[in-house]
Amino acid sequence: MRKFMSKFGSGMNLMVLALLAVTLTVTAAAQQPAPAPQNPQPVAATQPAQSQSGQAQTGQAANLAPPTTMDQVVDRVILREKELIKFLSPRTPVVETYLQNLTQDPQLGPIPQDDHYFLGRMDLSESIDRSDYLDGKGKDTKNESMEKHLLGEFTKKFKFQYQPLGFSWMIFADRNDFDRGHYDFHYVRREFLGDVRCLVFDLTPKKDAGRGRFLGRIWVEDQDFNIVRLNGTYARPQRNNYYFHMDAWRLNLVPGYWVPSYIYSEEGDFTAGHVNKIAFKAQTRMWGYNLKTGPASDELTNIRVDSVKDDTPSAQDATPLAAEREWQQQAEDNVVERLQRAGLLAPEGDVDKILQTVVNNLEITNNIELPRPVRTRVLTTSPLETFSVGNTIVVSRGLIDVLPDEGSLAMVLSHELAHIVLGHNLGSQYAFNDRMLFSDEVTYQNLGFKHIPEEETAADKKAIEMLKASPYAQKLDSAGLFIKALQARAPQLSALLQAHLGNNIAENGTVTRLAQLATSAPALDWNKLDQIAALPLGGRVKLNPWDDKVEIVKSQPVAITSARDKMPFEVTPFYPRITRYATASTTAATTAAAATTPTATNTATTADASTTPSN
Ligand SMILES: [Zn+2]
Repeated sequence: MRKFMSKFGSGMNLMVLALLAVTLTVTAAAQQPAPAPQNPQPVAATQPAQSQSGQAQTGQAANLAPPTTMDQVVDRVILREKELIKFLSPRTPVVETYLQNLTQDPQLGPIPQDDHYFLGRMDLSESIDRSDYLDGKGKDTKNESMEKHLLGEFTKKFKFQYQPLGFSWMIFADRNDFDRGHYDFHYVRREFLGDVRCLVFDLTPKKDAGRGRFLGRIWVEDQDFNIVRLNGTYARPQRNNYYFHMDAWRLNLVPGYWVPSYIYSEEGDFTAGHVNKIAFKAQTRMWGYNLKTGPASDELTNIRVDSVKDDTPSAQDATPLAAEREWQQQAEDNVVERLQRAGLLAPEGDVDKILQTVVNNLEITNNIELPRPVRTRVLTTSPLETFSVGNTIVVSRGLIDVLPDEGSLAMVLSHELAHIVLGHNLGSQYAFNDRMLFSDEVTYQNLGFKHIPEEETAADKKAIEMLKASPYAQKLDSAGLFIKALQARAPQLSALLQAHLGNNIAENGTVTRLAQLATSAPALDWNKLDQIAALPLGGRVKLNPWDDKVEIVKSQPVAITSARDKMPFEVTPFYPRITRYATASTTAATTAAAATTPTATNTATTADASTTPSN
């Protein structure tokens, strides 16, 4: 995995170094699995006919006769997993891991002590250029072998660094050897996950299956027998070594396939007397499965047809000011399109309508008239950041997640609107198209929208002025409380507060953005159950891993019963509402599924019921 920016990996503290050491030794431990045959035959002596039909009918699960015994079901599960691996092999999804190391607070329970962030693209291809393995500059070859073992082989296009990779192992149960030769399948029971009835199996690696084998439980939907969820760890670490526990969820985003979407990892024991060596929570999200990866071949499909571009009534040349605005719009369009193509910006959608309504409220009540309407877009990543390019305001998914209400959303948007109103245009250099010609994984090195401190101060001043004249004037207490909560956690959340394209909201553990609003806010009180200053991550915006569309989660809020339920800015387990793909056309051919974008995006209900613990 190549990273979007090199500085992700820097700033490691001792805890993570310890984690890395653990990962490394685990990696070494996985070097001695029993050599497995290239294509191990399923040990399905009782069901020879089933195995044969399975091999013949790749990608056509619906054409197979329904299994009548549990052995046949297991054969089908194995077949579907192999078909998923094949289906995803041309794809290079974005993979994000956000990790919080935990410390025990007597009152609030485990709270973040520090945090780490990883972002990259993962190539799920089966093919590999041998020389790439030997090519690695000081790369740990043992570790690469572990990658290969658990995830399959990677091409050189997007190499994973081993730390984030460790959190993504459970994309598949076992990339190379998911079969009866390596595993015992024990049927447990039927159980519903969301709307989907599943068969539950416990998997244990066979005695001689080697190290690094999946150990845990799988949930399999009972129509086509695709794995929907995996929960467990990897078996037989050597002494003093360690595998993370993981809970991995898949979503039915394309007909016939359940796409790996979320992985939650958690370690740590906070019972009395226990001394923790490792205590953390981590969320791994995958998206951008449908991103184009081809070089020049897809250029034609990316040309924008912009109907509002030419609004001059006459056929004359643009005036100098009009030319300047055209130029800025061109830069804005270039950047928006480029970020979307890299999987960093969600396509225009319903969340933007909500953001734009708030912007409109600010504009109308402040008599702001701009030559072009202000647009908003959602950055698909977790770190809390905003920026604007031309007349487009961009807010990160993670920031929208943690905002408690509309007043605090107005606060966030007002700062960027102020930049636009004050004419603090950035990024006009991106009107030159050559500046868009870079590979996705170096996006952060090639784009940036940071204002100078003077413009930041001026934007804050203007923003407060606008807020006070707006309908949100009465709601600034909650915005101020949000700033206070952020300030309380900022020293521990430097990775979450590290902006990658815009200005930081906090610098060196101190909130700088609109900090003045905190002075007039009520006192922050974690024990006051009706005071919700900030929300956990993942509670508001759901991102479709297939097409990157975002929507607002419509889950009913769960009543808070103790201060520990608030979990401001915290990582929680995933518990998506599982549903089948809307049209349920599992008969669709593999190729059709691969070529088309699903139209009904809201079928993948991914509401994170963050207060529900996973079992
Ligand atoms: Zn700013």
